[in-house]
Amino acid sequence: MLFGLTGGIGSGKSLIAQGLRNLGCAVYDTDSEARRIMQTNPCVRSQVELLFGSDIYCGDRLDRPAVAQLVFHDASLRERLNGIVHPAVAFDVEQWAKEQQGLCFVESAILFESGMERLCRAVVCITAPDELCIRRTMQRDGASREAVEARMLSQMSEAGRIARSQFVVCNDGSRAVDALCLDILHFCQACKP
Ligand code: ADP
Repeated sequence: MLFGLTGGIGSGKSLIAQGLRNLGCAVYDTDSEARRIMQTNPCVRSQVELLFGSDIYCGDRLDRPAVAQLVFHDASLRERLNGIVHPAVAFDVEQWAKEQQGLCFVESAILFESGMERLCRAVVCITAPDELCIRRTMQRDGASREAVEARMLSQMSEAGRIARSQFVVCNDGSRAVDALCLDILHFCQACKP
């Protein structure tokens, strides 16, 4: 049974994903798998080349900084890129989930925006106060406050994510991550297929 794991930047999704892996669950890391798919899926590659020109790949490697630069100022280009990548990742998640036994999770900051929640039995949302998310992300990425705030603003609002989730976990440091992971496991185990 596939569950979604989402939350804003710095909420602690990746840490909780690791905690769930430690409890024996399989977790699909959308960020790294999307990178792999853009690099290795020939159908995706040819569409990305059509969008940006074939120079966007150097051998097997996609010039990710150039892509980020190009889509940063151009919302329609970004949407067209998402229209190529999101369905390919969703397809891959679906195949992957079929191969898993027991509970499995797909971790994505943009689970709703990408439509991937439709593949999930239920969605777990990780939350934390904005200021804590900002400080965690600045420390993790060595990024400026402005850069982190800009990334936060580009995401769906926390209220929007919470409204569309079936289970909300507050990762504000008041409870250990292991305990939060057990709560998530119990919620998922109680969900009927
Ligand atoms: P996300 O994947 O949601 O962007 P991460 O899981 O990478 O967030 O967490 C951001 C940073 O904050 C990481 O360095 C992580 O180790 C740290 N962090 C997250 N939650 C906690 C917590 N409960 N206690 C201590 N550090 C935390």
